[in-house]
Amino acid sequence: MIAWLETAALTLFPACCIICGQRYRSGDFQDLCPACVAQLPFRRQTERHMQVLSPAMTRQLSATDYFQARNIRASVFFHYRSDLPRLVRGLKFHQHPEYALPLGQLMAQRLALDIQTEKLTFDMGGPATWLLLPIPLSERRMAERGYNQAELLARPLSHRLGFELRTDILFRHRSTERQSEMEGTDRLMNVNGAFKVNTQCLRQRKVLLLDDVLSSGSTLYSAARTVLAAGAAQVHCLALSSPRRDISDWTPENRHDRHLPDSAGGLAVI
Ligand SMILES: [Zn+2]
Repeated sequence: MIAWLETAALTLFPACCIICGQRYRSGDFQDLCPACVAQLPFRRQTERHMQVLSPAMTRQLSATDYFQARNIRASVFFHYRSDLPRLVRGLKFHQHPEYALPLGQLMAQRLALDIQTEKLTFDMGGPATWLLLPIPLSERRMAERGYNQAELLARPLSHRLGFELRTDILFRHRSTERQSEMEGTDRLMNVNGAFKVNTQCLRQRKVLLLDDVLSSGSTLYSAARTVLAAGAAQVHCLALSSPRRDISDWTPENRHDRHLPDSAGGLAVI
C-alpha cells in the first residue's frame, strides 16, 4: 500500500534530482535520479576500509599511541571527487541539509552490503547493540548552521540498520578552527582534547562514530580516543567520503606482520 502510494505520489509530483536538477519518476534514493547515482564515485568494497588516522600522521605519534591508532579503523563509502565535493560543501557550508538523506541512504545501503557479505561483521548482538554517535559541532557552529550534517547522515543508517543513534553522549569541548583550513599535525593539535563525553553511557559499549569527510583522520581519531578513554569496549569509524588512497596500508596480512593486537573487537574488517 505504501509502495503504491509512493509510486502514485512520484507520478503526480516527480522528484527533483539534487545533482542534475532533472525531474524523475522512480528511483531507490530520495532526490537522486538513477543516472546520477550510477555516476557517483563509490569506493569498491575493497577500498572502503582503512586505518582512521593517515599513515603520515600515525608515524608522528608516540609508540603507545601509534599502536592504538593502528587499531582504530574506518569504513568510507565514496572517493572525494566528481560530484562529492560539491554535495559535501553544499551540505556543510551552503545550507543544503536535504543532501544528507540520499547520501545517508547510500551509506546505509553499502554498509548493509558489507555486513551481508561479511566484509564487516558485527558479532556480540548485531548492529542494534552499537551506539551510533555523529561527530558533534561546537555550539557556535551549530548556531550558525542550524543543523549537524553528521547527525543528518547518521539517521538513515540508524533507520535501516538498527544502530542506536545518540546525540546526547559526545560533545565538543571547545570551538576548534575549521579543520579544512589546516594542514598536517596542526589538525591533530587542533582537535586534541576537543571532545567530552557522557561517561556513564559509554562504559563497555560498542561505538560507531560518523563524520562527513575523512581527511587526515584527526577528528575521528580524537573522538575515538575520547570514547575509549571513557570506557567504551570498541570503536569503529564511518565516513561518507575521503580523498585518501591508503587502503592498502591496512590488510589482514600486514596487520599480523606488524604484531598488532587482533582487537578489532566485535567488528572485524576482512
Ligand atoms: Zn540526476
